[in-house]
Amino acid sequence: MSTEEQNQKSVFSKEEEKVLEFWKKGDTFKKSVEKDAPQGNYVFYDGPPFITGLPHYATLLPSIAKDVIPRFFTMKGYRVDRVWGWDCHGLPAENKVEKNLDLKNKKDIENLGVERFVRECRDYVSTSSKQWEWYIERIGRWVDMKNAYKTMDLKFMESVMWAFKSLYEKGLIYEDYRTSLHCPRCATPLSKFEVTMDAGSYREVEDDSVIVEFETDKDFTLLAWTTTPWTLPGNLALAVKKDTSYSVVEHSGKKYVLAKERVEEVFEGKKYKKVKDIKGKDLVGTGYTPLFDLQNGKAKENSGTFKVYDADFVSTQEGTGVVHIAPAFGEDDFQLGKREGLPIIELMDENGVYGEVAGEWEGYYFKEANEKVKEKLGERLFKREKSVHSYPFCYRCDTSLIHKTQKAWYLSIESVREKMVESNKEINWVPDHFKEGRFKYNLESAPDWCLSRSRYWGSPVPIWRCDNKECENVEVPGSIKEIESLSGEKVSDLHRPGIDGITFPCRECGGKMKRVLEVLDCWFESGSMPFAQFHYPFEREDEWKDLFPADFIIEYTGQLRGWFYYLHVLSNALFDSYAFKNVIVTGVLAGSDGRKMSKSLGNYPDPKLVLDKYGSDALRIYFMSSPIMLGGDTNLSEEDIQDALRKNIILLSNVLSFYTPFAKEEKFFVKEGEWREGFSDNILDRWILARLEQTIEEIEENLKNYTLPPACKAITLFIEDLSTWYIRRSRKRFKGEDREDARRALYTTGLVLHRFSKAIAPVLPFVSENIWQKVTGNDFEDKEKSVHLTDYPKVEKRLIDEKLVSEMQKAREFTSLALKERAENNIKVRQPLPSLTIPKGAGLEEKGDLLEIIKEEVNVKEILFDESLEDGVVLDKKITPDLKEEGEVREVTRTIQNLRKKAGLVPGDRVKVFYKGKDFQELFSKWGDKLKKETGTEEIIEGERGDFLAEKRSEINEKELFLAIGR
Ligand SMILES: [Zn+2]
Ligand SMILES: [Zn+2]
Repeated sequence: MSTEEQNQKSVFSKEEEKVLEFWKKGDTFKKSVEKDAPQGNYVFYDGPPFITGLPHYATLLPSIAKDVIPRFFTMKGYRVDRVWGWDCHGLPAENKVEKNLDLKNKKDIENLGVERFVRECRDYVSTSSKQWEWYIERIGRWVDMKNAYKTMDLKFMESVMWAFKSLYEKGLIYEDYRTSLHCPRCATPLSKFEVTMDAGSYREVEDDSVIVEFETDKDFTLLAWTTTPWTLPGNLALAVKKDTSYSVVEHSGKKYVLAKERVEEVFEGKKYKKVKDIKGKDLVGTGYTPLFDLQNGKAKENSGTFKVYDADFVSTQEGTGVVHIAPAFGEDDFQLGKREGLPIIELMDENGVYGEVAGEWEGYYFKEANEKVKEKLGERLFKREKSVHSYPFCYRCDTSLIHKTQKAWYLSIESVREKMVESNKEINWVPDHFKEGRFKYNLESAPDWCLSRSRYWGSPVPIWRCDNKECENVEVPGSIKEIESLSGEKVSDLHRPGIDGITFPCRECGGKMKRVLEVLDCWFESGSMPFAQFHYPFEREDEWKDLFPADFIIEYTGQLRGWFYYLHVLSNALFDSYAFKNVIVTGVLAGSDGRKMSKSLGNYPDPKLVLDKYGSDALRIYFMSSPIMLGGDTNLSEEDIQDALRKNIILLSNVLSFYTPFAKEEKFFVKEGEWREGFSDNILDRWILARLEQTIEEIEENLKNYTLPPACKAITLFIEDLSTWYIRRSRKRFKGEDREDARRALYTTGLVLHRFSKAIAPVLPFVSENIWQKVTGNDFEDKEKSVHLTDYPKVEKRLIDEKLVSEMQKAREFTSLALKERAENNIKVRQPLPSLTIPKGAGLEEKGDLLEIIKEEVNVKEILFDESLEDGVVLDKKITPDLKEEGEVREVTRTIQNLRKKAGLVPGDRVKVFYKGKDFQELFSKWGDKLKKETGTEEIIEGERGDFLAEKRSEINEKELFLAIGR
């Protein structure tokens, strides 16, 4: 690493790296997993990320929670195995390789050779995974990456195959024609949710829409409208709505029919005459002449083709109220075709090019077809217009998608829907509105799941079919052994193209059984991870009931239709169970400007630099405190990360640096389990212990409930109490002459830091380790010892004194009001004032200890009470000559102390003080002894000389004073 990079690292970041080193040397993660687990297993599933690219905030955020919760349950006495997973297959990897090798389409891949392509994909995912390790380790996430499961591993794929067969045998898998969004470049269907998951998939585009004339067997011509002219070659029918009014209109000697509502707009600028109105039902059954000649007998032979049908989806908001129907290219079209028994004719190949069946359209890419329509329709093109509408694009390669009907393998969601809705009731969703809201809606509305993809890099669809068209017998092997016994071949890899070469004779007719060429949708694999990661049921079958379902998973809202959904589908379909008991759904993380994070917009800081600058603990508590952990969308803010560092890590580190020298001097170290009852009556000690136990209870409750922001808020509030009130108020006690009281303060602080370090260890693993090591005196010596190997602190409920906490709260409020008034009136705190009056209703009259604290903080001689006061306080600001003098003495004392500090003196170094200032002669003669005592001064001398250790000229109450110290 270069020096420049080293220099950018903050002291916090460097400290964290030391801790990482300590864990590594001590093998602390492994020890934490393998230590005694009286509570048994706690099962965590890692949602496997796609390997492509580097980890980003969107992966770091859930990764941190995936560390916090398992650390917590480990400390609670559970065994939490944490194994990383990689989602290796699918389009993301294929697209990267295509880009790297400059392959334009599937033809290029086939030319290169499927074997080579698949090998490239495997190499790509193998090298990409390495770059992740630095980030995952640096954020302090404990996870076993060395033994990560990979969806491309033979064992994983065999379990997937077992799952497919099980589902097939349950009758849940079928082959059918369906319409789906299809990418002509990737040459594969995409699932609708993947397209909607990506916010940029649908965009407004300007396209041609056309109105086309259809000659009927009656005396009129129908005007039909479409926004996708390229689909016209697939036209098999027209649709109208039976209750809608249509008009017969005369124009240029011809009669046209279209929806009554649309006449004015369609004929705008044209001369026309309305003849009469009819109903849609009068049109149903009308025959018409096909626009183009299809080279396929099915269209002509079928008695239902080229007729008008009634359909609910016909709208008169736009167009003509007559819709062109191409069952090969649209969901509504396909459904209508199915209802009316129209034939399914596949006109276009998977690359979006018309085939031989399409007659004169053969060889046209769908986009070109859009352009050619005008020419080929000739006079039948009634009107052509530009129209703006929302259109989907491939989220991988940005090609315009098409709706395409094709044969594919489906999982029947319908058959498991009820079970899924029922078992969802058992799941704890955080936040809970997803349970009855979006997730339930997905379960209720999801269509059957298209499982097959006509691609290369994936688990094979394990279906072999007889190549005898008369037979078409199907076999679905569910294990490697089964394939081997069917084919007599040795199988060591399930990937294409090797698996495609395995054939065997048909049991029915003796024909050749060949594998269908598709691979599985990779969501089938990530949904299979609960069992496939263990190679179930081929291994670990006995332990299965302990490993399923998961106690905890977490991902972002997009996975409501992704991983969460597919886990739920497969677990219900295979095991009649939900797959996870508790789930956190995070919101979406956007860049600092609220837009999607993007390098070109520069709307987010480099994660590596952030980790170097602020450290991991700061990023951890920033993310875990954020409403994003309760499903809210959030913009990343570097300022807030910095703030998290300041409010948590810096304050806490300062407490530790203050405490440690005293503890060392007293040789006081806290032992595990150490507890001395009632060791201090001091009100501050009792208060901070009460606050500590309150805080531990709050953190624990919220971590148990998977609500991280309130747990983090409790941490931050306690750090503030500890640092800016308890330690600040106790500083004098540590240094004071009352050694008993000094030890009480030391003991209390030690105990608090020790217990608090354990309570925050899951959220802030680094700073907590630092504190624990210092407070216990291990100081990173014994590598067997770590805060993460201790038990979570059990709340000492009897110490929670709610009354004391609320009284202290009031005292602090009055103090801050009084200090605010001092500041507004420009009166320094060192200037004593006569009195502060506080509300009698606060009930603090009898609380001598608390009143002393207020008196000292506000620097007043007396606290008075007033019944008429409600929330406010009254500060008597009259400065008598005596008080003024007292204030000046304090000023002088403080200046001398600062000079000692400046000269590098330590307590016990005795020096002389020199002064010059005629207005201060009286003060020094009157208060000299007190000043000497308080500042460790031998002698006070009036006059100046040349060799002082430190000196300062100042003005006190507009009077000049020169002060210096010397030997
Ligand atoms: Zn694509
Ligand atoms: Zn056969």
